[in-house]
Amino acid sequence: MDTPPGECTQCWQHAHDQRIHRRLGPREDCPQCVDHMINGHGSHLAPKKKSSWW
Ligand SMILES: [Zn+2]
Ligand SMILES: [Zn+2]
Repeated sequence: MDTPPGECTQCWQHAHDQRIHRRLGPREDCPQCVDHMINGHGSHLAPKKKSSWW
């Protein structure tokens, strides 16, 4: 599964792959997602294609 350009690879995967969060309890937060919400996505962002709309 490819992450769309500009999206966070981790958050996108977590949002689209339910299995990743299945191990968590119903009211349990995913530490990785919480970390991204607080600290930002950093280098996890997928690179944008420069010439996509030129
Ligand atoms: Zn997550
Ligand atoms: Zn993220």
